[in-house]
Amino acid sequence: MKLTQRNYYGPKASKEYMSVSQFKDFLKCPAMAMAKLNRKYAPERGRALLLGSYVDEMLTGTKKTLDKFIEENRAELFKKNGDPYADVEQAEDTVERVRKQPLMMHYLGGKHQVIMTGEIEGVPFKIKMDSFDPKEYITDLKYMASLRSPNLFTPMVEYWGYDLQAACYQEVVYQNTGKRLPFYFDVATKEKPAHLAVGQISQWNIDKAMETVRANIVRFQKIKTGELEADRCEDYNCEFCTTTKIITEAIDTDMFGMSAAQIRGMRGDI
Ligand SMILES: [Zn+2]
Repeated sequence: MKLTQRNYYGPKASKEYMSVSQFKDFLKCPAMAMAKLNRKYAPERGRALLLGSYVDEMLTGTKKTLDKFIEENRAELFKKNGDPYADVEQAEDTVERVRKQPLMMHYLGGKHQVIMTGEIEGVPFKIKMDSFDPKEYITDLKYMASLRSPNLFTPMVEYWGYDLQAACYQEVVYQNTGKRLPFYFDVATKEKPAHLAVGQISQWNIDKAMETVRANIVRFQKIKTGELEADRCEDYNCEFCTTTKIITEAIDTDMFGMSAAQIRGMRGDI
């Protein structure tokens, strides 16, 4: 199928192509990834995603797509009296600050929302770039909580899997253009005041992330096509596993709050 702005996030495209977010879903919980694909599970779109999309539209959308976005999300963005909600106003103010940063705007100056497809380990893959300059860079815009990682031991970009995104985007662009381009993040945070930053992810980190992609993608594709079973992660923080779990036995109360893997580890049956 030919991918367009209209069908890119549709169910047919998700079945035909792997994407970074789908890969990350499989990495987290194969059962959840499959339920999403089969439209049996759709996590509620939180305000984080709404605000992220709004910032994307303001900085990389056209007047037409921005107007459409506002129209479709008016009730969530604006109060009845027409004033923006506090977090929406903050996002708008932050975008104004980004517009005054020449380097940030430089990396947003390519073609916007560019779709490409390729293959990784033989698996069809799709990407959509926020800003793409075929001679110079790939840029992704992030409106996120903080520049700091929630986990002391994992760098922020790795924690959120943005290194996986950089690796897949760089590879698919390489397959389409023959160029291995540097990958930049234009970041604005939701803190007060918002931190702004331009980050370049090192090739070392990209290559390391690509190893993770290559080591897993064929297995994920086999789960996708039904050749392999989709395991449940049973992680304490997995919304899908938590809400679909059937309790089959009593567990030692010391094991409350542990993931299935931790419990198996404690019992010694891995
Ligand atoms: Zn799970």
